[in-house]
Amino acid sequence: MKRQRNVKIVATLGPASDTHDMIRALHEAGVDVFRLNMSHGTQEEIRAKHAIIRQVEAELDSPIAILADLQGPKLRVGDFVRGAEELENGASFRLDLDPADGDATRVCLPHPEIFAAIEPGVSLLVNDGKIRLKVESCGADFAECTVIAGGRISNHKGVNVPDVELPLAALSEKDRSDLEFACALGVDWLALSFVQRVEDVTEARALVKGRAAIMVKVEKPKAVERFEDILAVCDGVMVARGDLGVELPVQAVPPIQKRLIRKCRAAAKPVIVATQMLESMIESPMPTRAEVSDVATAIYEGSDAVMLSAESAAGQFPVQAVQTMDRVAIEVEADPTYAQIIAASRSIKGSSVADGIVAAAREIAETADIKAICCFTQSGTTALLTARERPGVPIIAMTSLRGTARRLALTWGCTCVMTGELARFKDAVVNAARAARAQGFATESDQIVLTAGVPFNVPGTTNILRVAPCDERLIYSTDPE
Ligand code: PGA
Ligand code: MN
Repeated sequence: MKRQRNVKIVATLGPASDTHDMIRALHEAGVDVFRLNMSHGTQEEIRAKHAIIRQVEAELDSPIAILADLQGPKLRVGDFVRGAEELENGASFRLDLDPADGDATRVCLPHPEIFAAIEPGVSLLVNDGKIRLKVESCGADFAECTVIAGGRISNHKGVNVPDVELPLAALSEKDRSDLEFACALGVDWLALSFVQRVEDVTEARALVKGRAAIMVKVEKPKAVERFEDILAVCDGVMVARGDLGVELPVQAVPPIQKRLIRKCRAAAKPVIVATQMLESMIESPMPTRAEVSDVATAIYEGSDAVMLSAESAAGQFPVQAVQTMDRVAIEVEADPTYAQIIAASRSIKGSSVADGIVAAAREIAETADIKAICCFTQSGTTALLTARERPGVPIIAMTSLRGTARRLALTWGCTCVMTGELARFKDAVVNAARAARAQGFATESDQIVLTAGVPFNVPGTTNILRVAPCDERLIYSTDPE
């Protein structure tokens, strides 16, 4: 679907947004990628949402990306006799493996790996970091802690252990089952939570077997430390600020966000800024000024996409939240300062023919009166490289592979158009001209830039750059076969 902006919008689906009408309204309002959170809901519920998205996609003939987000090794405490307790500062509190319900003095933490890995002095954070416990002494099945920052603790609250690299399998049994389920369903992106090691990604990739692109959620200090290596083996990144802001001091998150966005762009891999972007819109139709500024900042930094979590999954104003992001994006991208920042942070061009061609395509498009860059792409690479250039004209990614079109829906600036199998280059030119006109980017009297690899269907062969008229009669009379 044609958008008035380059940055993409990801929206998480949930109880507030699981009907056909709502999903269609969200897509029309601006959602390019729907996120299915495997931490919530059964596989059958996920299947139902997936089917609705594909139905909306078919109704509007507009490629939509579906991102399935695996829960990952999220640690949780057990239950309490009374459901919840209030922990006072300075009190003692014990975590152990006893499955009995907890009280004000103890609760079960059913993860022996944690007890094996921690030592006295380590911090344990509960409930998004609201409660902080310091380990005083510990053994194979317990940790005696002091409450440093107290608060309400209740059944199944999450636990973070930021100081320690936990020897946890990146994929739990549930994750493996969800991964297979999501791949078989045909999702486009699979997000891995709490990645700590390169092997966490390669292990998942071996199971995915090319059926989906792999996104790493950066939400552990180890993933930040090893980001270069992890980036090399994944297809996209989510700056998962929710857990990242618990695992690290909150003030560490903004510089990390900036650095990750820059590195992802240099690597031509899409990056999402996520969590609490319009948090107050869960309950209010109006965002705060700070939230608007946060969305704008992510866009100025060159992020491929901004994301809604509870705002669209469980909030009262999902469509308004999408409209807000859409309007902010349009405003930011119209600001001359945005173009300056984006140009100033354009990164190394690489050394392949494709790198040269996409850079040249952008220069031509920005020098002459060109209405769009159309790139023919099968793997998606040429479109990703073109997006890295962040050109000042729309990018039309043309592909005969539906999976590629859908995956690219996440990438900055890419409008994805399906083509048939193309035999001759001349057919490609005609297709591109038609697409540019059909999308409303160009008229018959305009020109476009076209990039392609010939022969078609051989990956990694970008070797053609053509400035073409949008008038088919001219193409047929002037182009070689
Ligand atoms: P989550 O991930 O919503 O699955 O926790 C995002 C984040 O931590 O920011
Ligand atoms: Mn998270």
